[in-house]
Amino acid sequence: MGLLALGTPLNWDETKPLAEHIRTHGITQFLNTWDRWKDRSGKGLLWGDEIEYMVLSFDDEHKAALLSLRQSEILEKLQSVTLDPALEKFKPAECATIPTFHPEYGRYMLESTPGCPFSGTPRALVAVEADMRFRRQIIRSHLFTNEVPITITSWPRLGVTDAQFTDPPTEPDEHRSSSRSCYVGQLLTNPHARFPTLTANIRERRGSKVDIRVPLYIDRNTPLPDNCKVTYANGETQPGPAKPLPGTPYIHMDAMAFGMGCCCLQITFQAWNVDEARSVYDALVPVAPIMLALTAASPAFRGQLADVDARWNVIAASVDDRTEEERGLKPLKNDRFRIPKSRYDSVSRYIANDERNRPEYQDVEAPMDEGVRQRLLGHGVDDQLASHLAHLFIRDPLVQFSETIDQDDEASMDHFENIQSTNWQTIRFKPPPVNSPIGWRVEFRSMEVQMTDFENAAFSIFIVLLTRAILSFDLNFYMPISQIDENMQRAQQRNAARAGKFFFRRNVFPLDRPHSPYDLTSRPVSPHRPSPDGAMSTPISRRNSPIHDEDIGDEAVEMSIDEVINGRGDGFPGLMGVVNAYLNSLNVDVGTKCELRRYLDLIKLRAKGELVTPATWIREFITTHPKYNADSVVSQEITYDLAKVVDEIERGVKPCPELLGKDYVGSGPSGKL
Ligand code: ADP
Ligand code: MG
Ligand code: MG
Ligand code: MG
Ligand code: MG
Ligand code: MG
Repeated sequence: MGLLALGTPLNWDETKPLAEHIRTHGITQFLNTWDRWKDRSGKGLLWGDEIEYMVLSFDDEHKAALLSLRQSEILEKLQSVTLDPALEKFKPAECATIPTFHPEYGRYMLESTPGCPFSGTPRALVAVEADMRFRRQIIRSHLFTNEVPITITSWPRLGVTDAQFTDPPTEPDEHRSSSRSCYVGQLLTNPHARFPTLTANIRERRGSKVDIRVPLYIDRNTPLPDNCKVTYANGETQPGPAKPLPGTPYIHMDAMAFGMGCCCLQITFQAWNVDEARSVYDALVPVAPIMLALTAASPAFRGQLADVDARWNVIAASVDDRTEEERGLKPLKNDRFRIPKSRYDSVSRYIANDERNRPEYQDVEAPMDEGVRQRLLGHGVDDQLASHLAHLFIRDPLVQFSETIDQDDEASMDHFENIQSTNWQTIRFKPPPVNSPIGWRVEFRSMEVQMTDFENAAFSIFIVLLTRAILSFDLNFYMPISQIDENMQRAQQRNAARAGKFFFRRNVFPLDRPHSPYDLTSRPVSPHRPSPDGAMSTPISRRNSPIHDEDIGDEAVEMSIDEVINGRGDGFPGLMGVVNAYLNSLNVDVGTKCELRRYLDLIKLRAKGELVTPATWIREFITTHPKYNADSVVSQEITYDLAKVVDEIERGVKPCPELLGKDYVGSGPSGKL
C-alpha cells in the first residue's frame, strides 16, 4: 500500500458527482505514463511479497485469544525501529535491507514487505525465508509479552456475539459505525480516514449494508432452522458449492471487516517492459484459482465452521458496492451498467497482444466504459489494453479527499490509482509510478497467507520461478475465462486441494517447439530479454503466423490439483514440471538447488495430498478438540488453544509434519532485538 495521504475525506454524496472528473483525469494520468513508458525497458525482474499479520492478545486466565487493536502504536514503533542503525546488527546475513511495515484495514493487522525488492537469482530466492523471518522477529520483539503476530487468513471468531473478541473490547453500533454492522464495532477498523470512509461509501453507494453469506459446515449436532432442507453432516458427504444454495444454512456477515480483515500473501514482479508484463499477467490468470486452492486457510468465520476452505467469496462480498440496478435486481434506470462481479473478484479479461489470446477465451461479460475505451484507442493504445482499462473504469471512485480533487496530471497518478487500486482482482497490472525508476509490474493476489514463513517463502518462490518458466519457454496457458471463474468457486470448496477438479489447458507448449519436458530443458528461450541495443528479440512474429494449434488440442480439461502441479502422463508437464525444467536450464550450484528443493517439495507434496492445507489442518484441529461439540461452533477456548498451537508450530516448539513435512525448523523463542 502506498502512503496514506492525509486530508479531508468526502462522503458519498460529495464523491459521486466527482466520479467523471476523477475517471477523466485518471485516464489522462495513465496516458501520460503510457507516453513515458510504452517503449521503455526497465531493469527486468525485481519482485517482492506482502505478508499480512494479525496481532493477538492472549488472556490466559480466561483462555481467550483476542485481536489486539494496537496497530497504530505498534506501527509507530516498528517504523522508528527500522530507521535505527542499531537494528543492522540483528539483520541476518542473507537479508539485503531492513524490512518495512505498513498499515492494513483491520486495527489488529500489520503488513510487511522487504525493504527493497528481491532479484530473481536462485541465491536471492533462497534468502527470502530469512527476510520474512526477520520481519516476524522484529514484530515479535516489539509486542507486549502477551501478544503474538500470527499469519492466519480468517480469524475464526471475528464478529462473534457470545463474548468479546478484541482487546480492548468493541461494541457494534448499528446506527453510527461506518459499516452499520450488528457484529463488529468501529474500533475494529484502522482509524485513518481512508478506511472508515471506504467502508461507509461502499455501503452508501450500494444502498444497503454488505451481505456476506458462507455455507455453514453442518455437523452431527448442528442446530438447523425448521425450514432448512439439509439433513446431513457435511463431514460425511461431498463438499457443497462455495456459495450457499437457497434454503441451506449459512454464516451471515455484514461488514467490510469480515473480508478486508482477512490476511493474504501477495507477490509483485517487475517486467522488462509492458509487453512482458501483459504476457505474464495473462498466464497467471488461470493460475490464480489453483494457488487459492493450494493455499486455502480459511475454514471458519464468525465463530462457526464453514463448508468452504478459502476467503475469496467473503472478501468479494465484503466490498461489493454495486447498486441493485447494477446487480440486476432492478431494471437499469439511474446506473450505467449491469455489472456481473464485485469490484473484488477474479479477472474478466486477458490483456496481451498475443495471437494466442483468442477472442473466444474472453467469454464472460465484462462491461466497459465506452468513452474511456474510445479515448484510449484515439491516443493509440491498442484494443486489449484499452478494453482492460475501460472495464476497470466502469467503477466509481470510493474515497476522495477534498484537498486533492485538482491534480497535476503530469506529476500524479492518484486519480488513476483511485480507480485502479479499488479494482481488487486476482491479478493486477501495475503501471509505473510517476517520478520513479519502477517499471511495469504484475501482482499475484489470490493466495491465502500461510502460518509459517517457510510456507510463505515456498509459495512466493514457486510463483516467481513459474513466471520465469512462462517467459523462458513462452508457455501458453490461455483458456476460457468462464472456466477460470468456475475454478475460483471450486477452489474455495472444502478439501478442494485434495479432491477438487480444475480446468487447465492441456497443451501449454508453443507450436514451433516440441512439447516434451526433455526438450523444454534443452531449449530454453528468453523471449522478452532485450538485446544489447535495447530492442526486443521477440517471438511476436511467430505469434502472428497463421498456424493454429487446434489439431494438437488447445482445450482445457479437468484435472486434480496434483495433476495441475505435478503433471500427468499425457505430456502435460504440470506447473512444477515447467519450473523444474527452467531450473535445469540454469547453472545452479548443488547447494542452492537443494535449498530450493525444500521449498518446491512443500508445493509438490501439498498438491499430491501428502501434506495438508492450512484450512484442512485448522478444521481438523477444531473438530478433534475435546471441547468441540460437533455443532459447528468454534468456541473461545478452542480458538485460544488453536492460536497457542499455531504460534508454537511457527516457532518450531511443536512439530507439525502433516502440514510442513519432517524438516521444518521453527523460528525459535522470541528474542529481543
Ligand atoms: P500494494 O499494497 O500497492 O500492492 P506494496 O507497496 O505494499 O504494494 O508492495 C509492493 C511489493 O512490490 C513489495 O513487496 C515491494 O518490495 C515490491 N516492489 C517494490 N519495487 C518493486 C519493483 N520495482 N519491482 C517489483 N516489485 C517491487
Ligand atoms: Mg501492500
Ligand atoms: Mg495494498
Ligand atoms: Mg495488504
Ligand atoms: Mg490490502
Ligand atoms: Mg498488494
